[in-house]
Order: sequence, then C-alpha cells, then structure tokens
Amino acid sequence: MATDSRHSPETYGLIVGAGSGIRFGRSKAFFTWQGEPLIASAARPFLRSSRIDGIVLVVRTEDLAAAQELAATFPKPTLVVQGGASRSASVRQGLAVLPERVRRVAIHDAARPRVSQRLLARLLEAGGPCVIPCLPLHDALHRDPASGGGSVPRDGIWRVQTPQVFDRDLLERAHLGEPEAADDGELAMRLGAPVTYVDGEEENIKVTTPDDLARLGRGSLGMRVGHGFDVHRLETGHRLVVAGVEIPAERGAVGHSDADVVCHALMDALLGAAGLPDIGHYFPPGDPAYAGADSVKLLRQVVATLRAEGLRVGNADCTIVLERPKVGPHRDRMRAILAEALGVESGAVSVKATTAEGLGPLGSGDGVAAWAVATLYDV
Ligand code: MG
Repeated sequence: MATDSRHSPETYGLIVGAGSGIRFGRSKAFFTWQGEPLIASAARPFLRSSRIDGIVLVVRTEDLAAAQELAATFPKPTLVVQGGASRSASVRQGLAVLPERVRRVAIHDAARPRVSQRLLARLLEAGGPCVIPCLPLHDALHRDPASGGGSVPRDGIWRVQTPQVFDRDLLERAHLGEPEAADDGELAMRLGAPVTYVDGEEENIKVTTPDDLARLGRGSLGMRVGHGFDVHRLETGHRLVVAGVEIPAERGAVGHSDADVVCHALMDALLGAAGLPDIGHYFPPGDPAYAGADSVKLLRQVVATLRAEGLRVGNADCTIVLERPKVGPHRDRMRAILAEALGVESGAVSVKATTAEGLGPLGSGDGVAAWAVATLYDV
C-alpha cells in the first residue's frame, strides 16, 4: 500500500459562528471587517494550510445562504451547517457532518478573525490528542462585589484561545451526553485527556463587543510598513508606462522591463514590509525573461509571494515625480490597475503626482521617479 506522503491524518477545520451576538448587537460571523465577513478572515489560515483538508462552517439559520455563497469561493471542500442553541451544541452540529475519514479537528471561533497562519501551524504540529493555545494573564483579578467581592489569585491562570486541535475520537467522546462548556478543551479535560498547551497570540483577539472592532484595527497590531523608491531615465524612442498605464509622451522611460517606476517602487515597498529581498533578487535586470516585462504582472507575482508568506496588502500610497506630461488624467485608471494587482479596493490605493519644479535631472525632464509606502497584514 502506498504511503500518504502529503500528511496524515486527515484534518478538518470547524469554524463556529452561530452565536446570537447578544453582546455584539448582531451576527458577528458575517459582520464585514476589512472588506470581508469576520468568518472569512477567521477561515483564511485554514484555507491556506496544507495540513487542513476541508472546513465546516457552523452558522446561524439566517446566515446559511451567505455561508453557502462564501463556501463556494473557498478552494477547499467546505460544508455549511446550521448551529445549535449553544456553542457546544453548534460544535456538535459541525461534528455530525464531518466526513468519516477525518481523524483530527481544529475548532475555531469565527469571532477570532486575526488568527495567524503561524499559530495554526504551531497547533497542528504539536502532538497530543488535545492541543490548546494559551497566554499568561497580566492583569489582577477581582471578583464583582455582587458575587462576593475580593480578589482572585492569578498565579498559574492562563487565558485560553482557539483554534483548539483534537483527535476526533476524543472530541466525539467529550461531547457525548450533550454537555455544555465555554470551550472544547474543558470538555476534553473532563474526560481526563492530556492537554498540550502552546503559546497563543495577543493579536488573536475574540470580538465580543463592538468596541473590540476598534481593537482589531488599531495601531500596529500585526501591521508591517514598507517603503520603496525607483527612478528611470527618460529618452526619446521609448514608451512611458506608469502604474500600468501607457502615457503618450515625447520621451519614455529606459529600462530592462517596461520601466514602470510606480510598480517597481511599490514592489520594493511590499517586499520591504515583508522583510524579503528587493525586486532585483526576484526579477534580475539582466534576465532575458524580464525584457520588456509588464511590471503589473511582476507586481501580481510579488503579491502572490507575500500570500505564500501569510501576508496580505493593507494599503499603498505612491508619489510620482514627473515634469511632463500630466499624470492627473490617468490617475483613476492607475489606482484601479494597482488595486486589482494588490487585491484591495481602489480606495486603499493612492497615486499622487508632482513635478520637481524644474530642479535637477527630474526637473529638466530627464527622468521619472516614484516613491511608495505600503502596509501588510497577517492573513
Ligand atoms: Mg525600476
């Protein structure tokens, strides 16, 4: 019998988003955050992991149609099932539809959209029938006066997150008799199952109240910034391609590829934010493969490289310095082209242009330059 070199055993992600959202005020799973429902963000690392074979989405009745629509866009087998009256009941609904061959299950809350590829990999690689991410507790704990008041010793107390990874057999036994618990780890422990704890991530926050959405997008949580610069000489007999748009001009940009300064600056900004080598490494200037290359295509390749690193683009801001002709009339098309290549809304891309006021080689029209800044987020 041939051995399965891919990985074993067969593992499914089970994403639970069937809560009534009482503290949130509406369905959390399908609340749009950064252009997509929270449940889609929560599912992304599962879709990208080579160790996950399929997904089950557990959602509210009123979200079933939206979940089916979302599932159709997923590149992995995805089952959609209606949730139960409690979180534990919803997990059982998901367990009930798992294909028979599935042996491991990674349970995750749809309300944790910031789960990273790295955390999921850590959990899947750890051994044991029950693997749980946890974090230390730094705040002091007090008891509500209505509950007797006083303080609670925090020594040895951990905060527990999802995803939680289980052997399917254990999970099914833990759910026999339809017990209720805040998480599945608790149910597994009731059976005396050994628990493997791995480091969780502070960014992996659970959206409970609308205030948490502000925390999701706030500050530098998981955000990276990169900067890029490029300049090309302008000469007659060459095309002038800027941000994917060919601009009719007396003099065009000289370069090995199409000499698109904006795309080049932007690629370096993206690669810089990711801590990867610059574009010269990926597309060597002497390589005949890139003679006259369409830089928008190269930009798409860079975005694919970032995706493979578990990173996606947040926004990009580009400044072009070109004495003439005017860039303004082409700006909207440039933004649309760049946004499409970056996989973001055109509102997340800015293209600005200025002249060099006749100063220096840029000012005399001998060159075109571009600066770009871009942000990246963990997928
Ligand atoms: Mg260049």
